[in-house]
Amino acid sequence: MIDVSTLTVQFPLLKSLQVLDEVCWFNPNVTPLNDALPYVGLTAADIQEASDRLTRFAPYLMVVFPETAQAGGMIESEVIEIPAMKAALERTEGQAIPGRLMLKKDSHLPISGSIKARGGIYEVLTHAEKLAMDAGLLSEADDYSKLDSDEFRRFFSQYSIAVGSTGNLGMSIGIMSAKLGFTVTVHMSADAREWKKAKLRSHGVTVVEYAQDYGVAVEAGRKAAEQDPRCFFIDDENSRTLFLGYAVAGERLKKQFGEQGILVDAEHPLFVYLPCGVGGGPGGVAFGLKLAFGDHVHCIFAEPTHSPCMLLGVHTGLHDQIAVQDLGIDNITAADGLAVGRPSGFVGRAMERLIDGYYTLSDAQMYHWLGKLNQSEGIQLEPSALAGMPGVIHVLKDAPYQRRIEMSEKRLHQATHLVWATGGGMVPPEEMEKYLAQAGSPLGYASGKA
Ligand SMILES: *Cc1c(COP(=O)(O)O)cnc(C)c1O
Repeated sequence: MIDVSTLTVQFPLLKSLQVLDEVCWFNPNVTPLNDALPYVGLTAADIQEASDRLTRFAPYLMVVFPETAQAGGMIESEVIEIPAMKAALERTEGQAIPGRLMLKKDSHLPISGSIKARGGIYEVLTHAEKLAMDAGLLSEADDYSKLDSDEFRRFFSQYSIAVGSTGNLGMSIGIMSAKLGFTVTVHMSADAREWKKAKLRSHGVTVVEYAQDYGVAVEAGRKAAEQDPRCFFIDDENSRTLFLGYAVAGERLKKQFGEQGILVDAEHPLFVYLPCGVGGGPGGVAFGLKLAFGDHVHCIFAEPTHSPCMLLGVHTGLHDQIAVQDLGIDNITAADGLAVGRPSGFVGRAMERLIDGYYTLSDAQMYHWLGKLNQSEGIQLEPSALAGMPGVIHVLKDAPYQRRIEMSEKRLHQATHLVWATGGGMVPPEEMEKYLAQAGSPLGYASGKA
C-alpha cells in the first residue's frame, strides 16, 4: 500500500500535484547517454532492425494506403518552423525565445493521424511478418506488396489482435490490423472520442467500450486475449516492439534536419517537448533521438495536471507501483491521448536517466495554445498535442537547469526547440470547431495579453 502522507513529506512536489498546480521538475539524476544505455537494454541495432522492417513493408503500405505512396510507403511527418507561433508565445508569456521554434507534425502522419502511427502500426506489422514467415509464406527477400492478396487476408483472418486504448492507439492498430485481414478488437476507455470509435467500426473493427479509464480498458483487453491462443494482445504498457517503432523517428528527424541545414551539436542544442501518456510514444521517440543526436538533445515530457503519471512515477522512483489516483488525482482530462493514471514501468525505468525534465499543464492551457496555433500558423491539433507548446518557457525560466546542462547564452541563441505535435490530423471538422470554440471560451486567456 502507498502511504501518501509519508510520501508527500519525502517528496513535497507531490503536494502541488495533488492540488493540480502546474509544476515543472528537471531531474538532477540524468546521466550521459553512455552511462544510461545499459538501463534501457535496447541498442542502435534494435532500432536499425525496426527501420529495416518498415522498409520491407513500404511496398505493401504504398499499395494499401495510397496516401503513403508519395513518400515511398514511409510513414513520416514534416518538421516545420513556426515563427508566428513563437511570436505569440513570446507575447503571451512575456518571455523572449532565443533560437528557433519548430513543430514535428506527427499529428498529420498518414493512416491514423497521430504519433501512434509509428509504434502501433509497427507492432502489427512485426506480428504479421512473424506469423507469415513461420508459416513459410513470406521471406525477407520478398516484395511485401504480395501481402495485399486474398490469400494473405485469409491467412491472417485466422488470427486476432486486441488492444486497450484511449483512442489513437486503437485507431492505428485497428486500421492496420483490419487492412491485413486480422480480426481485431479495440478496448476503449471512457475518454475515447465517439468519432474514433465510429471510424474504427467502419473499418470492420470490434470496439468494446468501458465506462472507466485506460487502465481498466487495458486489463480487460489483456484478459480477453488470454482466453484465446490465436489472439495477440498489444501491450501498450510494456511493449519493446512498440517502443522501437517510435524510436525510428530519431534517425528520420536527423535526416530531415540535415536536409534543412539545421545543426545539432554542442554549440547548437536541441530541446524536444513530448506529450506523455503511458510513456511508450514519447519514451521511444526520446530513445531514438538520444541515439541520433547523443547528449546534444534534451527531452522534456509534458502531462496534464489531472494525469501526471510519469512525473509521479519517476520523481518518487515508484514507477508503475503508483498511480495518480493514489494521490486522489482523478485522471480526467480533455487531453484524451494523455489520460493515463499509471505510467509504464518499463519506460520509466528504461528512460529516467535520459529525460531531462517533466512538467504539467492544465486543460485550459492546452486549449489556449490550441487556439493560438490555429490563429498564428493555421494548424489545427487535438488538445493532447499542444502539451509540448509551453515547454520552451520552462527551460528558459530555469537558471539552475540551464547551468547544469551548461547552456550559455550563445548556445541558447543557437538552440532549436521542437514541439512534438502528437495528434489531430484526422479530427472531423465539426469536432475541431468544438475544440476551437473551447479555445476561445472565456477561461481567462482570451483578452488582452496576446
Ligand atoms: C498516445 C498519445 C500520446 C502519448 O503517448 P503514450 O505512449 O501514451 O505516452 C500523446 N499524444 C497523443 C495525441 C496520443 O494519442
